[in-house]
Amino acid sequence: MTTTETNPAAAPDTALKAVDPATGEVIATYTIDDEDAVRAAVAKARGAAATWGALSYDDRRKHLLRWSSRLVADADEFTKLIHKENGKPVDDAFLELMLALEHIAWAAKNAKKILSPKKISPGAMMANFTARLEQRPLGVVGVIGPWNYPVYTPNGSIAYALAAGNTVVFKPSEYSTGIGNFLAAAFKKANPELPEGVFETINGYGATGAALVRSGVDKIAFTGSTATGKRIMADAAATLTPVLLECGGKDAVIVAADADIKAAADAVAWGATANSGQTCAGVERVYVDRSVRDEFVAEVKRILKDVKPGSDGKASYGPMTMPSQIDIVRRHIDAAIASGGTAVLGGPESVKGPFIEPVVFVDVDESSEAVAEETFGPTLTIRTVNGVDEAVELANNSKYGLSSAVYSKNHGLEIARRLRVGATSVNSVLAFAAIAGLPFGGVGDSGIGRIHGEPGLREFSRPHSIAVQKFTIPGMALMSYARTDSTMGLLRKMVPFLHGRHK
Ligand code: NAD
Repeated sequence: MTTTETNPAAAPDTALKAVDPATGEVIATYTIDDEDAVRAAVAKARGAAATWGALSYDDRRKHLLRWSSRLVADADEFTKLIHKENGKPVDDAFLELMLALEHIAWAAKNAKKILSPKKISPGAMMANFTARLEQRPLGVVGVIGPWNYPVYTPNGSIAYALAAGNTVVFKPSEYSTGIGNFLAAAFKKANPELPEGVFETINGYGATGAALVRSGVDKIAFTGSTATGKRIMADAAATLTPVLLECGGKDAVIVAADADIKAAADAVAWGATANSGQTCAGVERVYVDRSVRDEFVAEVKRILKDVKPGSDGKASYGPMTMPSQIDIVRRHIDAAIASGGTAVLGGPESVKGPFIEPVVFVDVDESSEAVAEETFGPTLTIRTVNGVDEAVELANNSKYGLSSAVYSKNHGLEIARRLRVGATSVNSVLAFAAIAGLPFGGVGDSGIGRIHGEPGLREFSRPHSIAVQKFTIPGMALMSYARTDSTMGLLRKMVPFLHGRHK
């Protein structure tokens, strides 16, 4: 399916060129998979689905953990590739890999407990039945991934779909094709005895992803922008293919009057700029209590003035991975200034080619696109509020609802519960993403469904309810034309007893 070449001049126009975002150098080319190639990959995965789905949970666990060990053995090569193709520092690539391994282990080790058949009480009226709830694999899951966390993010669908007994066809982002193929190749290398098709990749741009949506897979698990998520959902409607959508965010942090200000500033500075701010659940907005505002802003500035992007070993974060994102960040910086915001660190001059230095604004109008839309760059808006109620109202006043954070020594949990999001970290940022048992996903424009944890396994399985009649109760044939008047008489006495006694 894939050919890797290092001579860009030899690439036809229809080839996908992987580029080092720091230098613009072409590092590899890949054949773009068209509709036929996508259907062939799905057919291969369909062919392997019966074998993989019929394995025991223990066997699948063994194969998944072997995959992890292969990735650990190849970690140096893999993290260098991630650095080269995505731009992030090698240490950040290693952290990303480590998080992905935690999730593979969790999915592999917990699928049996969560998805094994369960006995269900049949209830008094059906006491002559036993009832079972069994979870079946869906079949073939199509995974479409983004480039910002090109291992961790799609793996949240891939590992869980595989653990639940599905085969997977994965289309990595066109900005992380090599990384996606490395992930799948490691699975094959670790498990040579498995049939072809358990975990396949297809390569290309949006059109290849769209072909996957149309291909008859049993579910599409998408991670990427809200605009693409909406298009995929509309396309999937034609075949009633279910979708899991992990989309964008505009995450807020609330810094309450009783917060540990140094800790909050440290976490916000990192959460807003790490990975060049290209984090779906990264910090984009802060609502800080007036009483601690000056101290907080000063501390954020103190930390971020020494944080520099680059491509060497000393860089805090790398270049913007996708060239078109640079224009969006520049536009949001201009919009923040136009709507009355003050840049307390950096400004338009911070955009230096693919490298963007941290930019911190205060008091940008809430209607500005710098506050309302996902920026996906190393920028931050800080707004002063008069207490927690105002902070919660403004944090919730967003079409997105992915995740959030709260800094408060005494009321963190209370404030967290009031936020309209899928996840919240209290006195930390992004912690939920590293706890494999916690599901991840958003509300509103941030998406539909959950990856990770128990719900993340259930997303990739189909409940199958089975009711088994163990014996018949004489005179109690309810679902039969043999039903008698005396049966109905008995029912008329039982129903008030069972359901009519509550005053
Ligand atoms: P994108 O929407 O541009 O692309 C994502 C994937 O969709 C790519 O593989 C792309 O080729 C494919 N695609 C594009 N058009 C398609 C179509 N019509 N049909 C099928 N597939 C299509 O997003 P991106 O720029 O790669 O990623 C950045 C976005 O991802 C940000 O908005 C970020 O917040 C979001 N994200 C969300 C999460 C999450 O878990 N919620 C995680 C990471 C990134």
